[in-house]
Amino acid sequence: MAIVRDYDVVIVGAGPAGMTAALYTGRAMLRTAVLERGFPGGELLNTEYLDDVPGFPKILGYELAEKFAAHAKQFGAEFFETLGVTSVTKMPDGYFHTEAENGEIFRSPAAIVTAGGTPIKLGVPGELEFAGRGVSYCAICDAAFFKQQVVAVVGGGDAAVEEADFLTRYASKVYLIHRRNEFRASKILQKHVFDNPKIEIIWDTVVEKVEGDAEHGMKGLRMHNLVNGERKILDATGLFVFIGFRPNTGVINGHFDHDVMGYVLTDNAMMTSIPGLFVAGDLRAQLTRQVTTASGDATTAAIAADKYITRFKEMQSEGTADATRGALQSSHVSAGGYT
Ligand SMILES: Cc1cc2nc3c(=O)[nH]c(=O)nc-3n(C[C@H](O)[C@H](O)[C@H](O)COP(=O)(O)OP(=O)(O)OC[C@H]3O[C@@H](n4cnc5c(N)ncnc54)[C@H](O)[C@@H]3O)c2cc1C
Repeated sequence: MAIVRDYDVVIVGAGPAGMTAALYTGRAMLRTAVLERGFPGGELLNTEYLDDVPGFPKILGYELAEKFAAHAKQFGAEFFETLGVTSVTKMPDGYFHTEAENGEIFRSPAAIVTAGGTPIKLGVPGELEFAGRGVSYCAICDAAFFKQQVVAVVGGGDAAVEEADFLTRYASKVYLIHRRNEFRASKILQKHVFDNPKIEIIWDTVVEKVEGDAEHGMKGLRMHNLVNGERKILDATGLFVFIGFRPNTGVINGHFDHDVMGYVLTDNAMMTSIPGLFVAGDLRAQLTRQVTTASGDATTAAIAADKYITRFKEMQSEGTADATRGALQSSHVSAGGYT
């Protein structure tokens, strides 16, 4: 028999979204479990410095992660580290069963999934070695660290083309490397790139290796032209990879509404099409993916979950047959002022 632990709310993932949600649910006196497959921090642990979090002009990623975790724990959230979640399932009685890798089941009326996403890697030598020391998967986050430097972007979709254009605000020169001889990106974004004198496009080419050394970080790229077979080194101190991003939605058991890219669709209370299941952060369909937006989503999700849980419990004690339906309505009542 699996061990079943009872909580008011279970949060999957302890990145900025999960830890913000835990802060708010803990502060609302909800018995909160946070299950994290690694250690608290999420992508903050892969980020050297951040300079765009209000109140912190420059902070190391891991330091910010420690502050987020300490703050959430201060309000009583229980963190289960190195304990991955395998599935989150809504049961016929309205409770969620969040199953952990060790077989334990965390039972709760509401669940908040903040499992983030995974940038698709090139998979070439040097890429991981120089991640955060030249190699990046986020232009908004890291562009400012490449002022007056030469950088390369890999990809051919909207993200690659748009971010190459954005990077020219900082970099002296941007090479846009694409494996084919035409982009998939929308025509209007392509036009911006073709018209930008700081961008040079390298067609029919793949990156084979990221070159650098331990002292200085990334110094260049070894490229391979797929048409003429030529190999050469491009001197560049930055590489931005935009070849796709996968939202980590695999734990959600059952149908949920999502967009064409697989990002979870929610209403403005961050509730998914499964009543009582909320999501926040990088796995949610939205315009941008930053620490501040993850925290903002999570704040809303936690407050809405609190309302949902309160109503769920009231309806259960009244013996109302469809607790989920009543709870669903109450989580969407707007507060009159600051909640
Ligand atoms: C290199 C890089 C630099 C960045 N720099 C900045 C920046 O300067 N400023 C900024 O605002 N944003 C930056 N970002 C973006 C920012 O880090 C993300 O938007 C933010 O971390 C999203 O938070 P999240 O909680 O939604 O997801 P994540 O941070 O991805 O956290 C998700 C967590 O869920 C856990 N998890 C996943 N699956 C499971 C499972 N099955 N069971 C248990 N746990 C699970 C993961 O281990 C992870 O800890 C950067 C991103 C990257 C990749």
